[in-house]
Amino acid sequence: MAKGKIGVTTDNIFPVIKKFLYSDHEIFLRELVANAVDATQKLKAIAGKGELKEELGELTIKIEADEKANTLTITDRGIGMTAEEVDKYINQIAFSSAGEFLEKYKDQLESIIGHFGLGFYSSFMVSKRVEIETLSYKEGSKGVKWSCDGSPEFTMEECEKKERGTKITLYLDEDSKQFATASKIEELLGKYCKFMPVKIAFGKEKEWKEGKNVDTDKDKIINNIEPLWSRTPSEIKEEEYLNFYRELYPMKEEPLFWIHLNVDYPFNLTGILYFPKIKDRMDISKNRIQLYCNQMFVTDSVENIVPEFLTLLYGVIDSPDIPLNVSRSYLQSDANVKKISTYITKKVADRLEEIAREKREEFQNKWDNLKLFIEYGMLTDEKFCERALKFALMKTTDGKFLNYEDYRKLIENEQTDKDKKVVYLYATDTVAQYQQIEAAKNKGYHVLLFDCQLDSHFVNLLETKIENSRFARVDSDSIEALIPKKENERPQLKEGEEMDYEAAFTSVLPQDAHYNLIAENMGENGVPIVITQNEFMRRYKEMSAMGGGLNFYGQMPDSYTIKLNLQNPLVAKIIEELKGATSAKVEKIEKERNSVDTALNTLNEETKGKKDEEITQAQKESRKELENKLDELRKERKELMSEFGRSNNLLKQVADLALLSNGMLKGKQLSDFVSRSLSLLK
Ligand code: ADP
Repeated sequence: MAKGKIGVTTDNIFPVIKKFLYSDHEIFLRELVANAVDATQKLKAIAGKGELKEELGELTIKIEADEKANTLTITDRGIGMTAEEVDKYINQIAFSSAGEFLEKYKDQLESIIGHFGLGFYSSFMVSKRVEIETLSYKEGSKGVKWSCDGSPEFTMEECEKKERGTKITLYLDEDSKQFATASKIEELLGKYCKFMPVKIAFGKEKEWKEGKNVDTDKDKIINNIEPLWSRTPSEIKEEEYLNFYRELYPMKEEPLFWIHLNVDYPFNLTGILYFPKIKDRMDISKNRIQLYCNQMFVTDSVENIVPEFLTLLYGVIDSPDIPLNVSRSYLQSDANVKKISTYITKKVADRLEEIAREKREEFQNKWDNLKLFIEYGMLTDEKFCERALKFALMKTTDGKFLNYEDYRKLIENEQTDKDKKVVYLYATDTVAQYQQIEAAKNKGYHVLLFDCQLDSHFVNLLETKIENSRFARVDSDSIEALIPKKENERPQLKEGEEMDYEAAFTSVLPQDAHYNLIAENMGENGVPIVITQNEFMRRYKEMSAMGGGLNFYGQMPDSYTIKLNLQNPLVAKIIEELKGATSAKVEKIEKERNSVDTALNTLNEETKGKKDEEITQAQKESRKELENKLDELRKERKELMSEFGRSNNLLKQVADLALLSNGMLKGKQLSDFVSRSLSLLK
């Protein structure tokens, strides 16, 4: 028997491994099975070249868990190792590379190990002793038994081994007993080895006998050596794609579409990506894509490998070209990863474009469930956005679907404003904005439906992407002003009149917002009052509510524009009443104001060109007094108008109707409105 000391720099690195890798202990099994798979594949390659002297025979990898003995064994029928090879690959390379690895990546170990592993070495995370019994395929080889108890010392001796291949026995630690139980091993094999390319047997097939489920003598194969993504796309039926999806995500609804990825140059990548139904934010679940490396499960968090919006997809990506022994943040800058990510984005766009072209109806029917994904992609990925502009659909409030080009043609004639911009009208709520939508339709306009959470961001994006366009929510202005066709003819008003109307009409509106009144000529048949909220202000507020970093806007009070239609007969009547009720007092106020103005002008003449110290105290005081007086008169006039507003039922009724059609009439004001309306009907 030979004894030796393993050449590692750190004297005893096992405690380090155990400590560092605590959370990922279970990956040891993946590593050992992967080695067994490798050894088997290598043997097949040798046999393929006709260099194997014996029969290949049964190649199934066997896993056995013995709860009583607290051991786990992994047995393969692969190439095996000679004594020299054990010395070279296990004693020298495996150990020293593990040592170097630990040394190099000390800081980022946790994140790397889970995805990469430490190969054979990781078996010491769970074992007090590990034994290798191996027989090489090479002619005349002798069996070798290697054993190590977790210290850097090992023993190696010749042994009787009849069957070619390697058997690894783990004598498990007391605190790793779970790895000798069938349920745990089944779980881990299911997670890590489900699609490995060599048959793996664990336990026996069961059969129903005399009222009991009993073991047969047939080995139970736990993996599918030819997973769907590794097969030729043209030979796969639709049902098989759906079945595979069900196998991966048993609890999920059927997917909308899928893409089979298959490329071997300039990098290797296969996989199947599924588009899940996403109706709203609640449905978004990221990181459902599983990453494999030659059918060996690596991770189910693919961020930094694919663009962010693609993490909304489901499915499998398999590539040996994604470097896994680097930190996650480094991945993004890796040239191969960049290529892969560009490729996947392109494929996803190709596929969507193809479906939109060839299966238009299906695409349209599924649009509502696909839209969030596409909009998210367009918002976050420039390249995808350019592509999606060609196939994305716009949905109208009538439930029609058109692509951007066709929609533009539809509205171009009617909805171009005086500045030659095509105005895209949209609604976010067909019930709340019903009246405005109808008004727009009556004008021959079309109204889009943007009712998805991302839409306020999305509208901003579309405005920059669609040439010569402007987006306006149907209730953001009066219908005439939404798409102004010519310069507006402003009504001729006397000085102060507009301010009078503002004071009168806003005195009856909810007092927690800010208003700005504009007198307009909107025709005899136009509504008396339109309450609008500035399109941009509203968008910013919505975005800040979604956490877009625009907090400043979020905190501002709501601000509305009140458009008063002077040509509407009811408004004309109210103004007549207003004048009747206030003109005598206004005249008096104006008279006083004129005299104050004159006095102020005289004073200004006297002090013109003088320096501050040349102006007398008396003059200063008198100016202050006059200015205060002006202020008071202004307030008096404003109060006069507000009082009129609050006492005029017709004005209140008209204002409430405007609030009502904006969904802003609530609480006491609503119940006052109802009783006032009833009394008017009497
Ligand atoms: P890696 O697999 O990353 O090369 P390991 O530490 O897992 O690193 O294994 C080191 C080497 O030991 C392998 O490259 C292989 O040559 C050899 N080896 C490990 N397990 C087996 C096995 N089951 N059969 C044959 N050779 C093996």
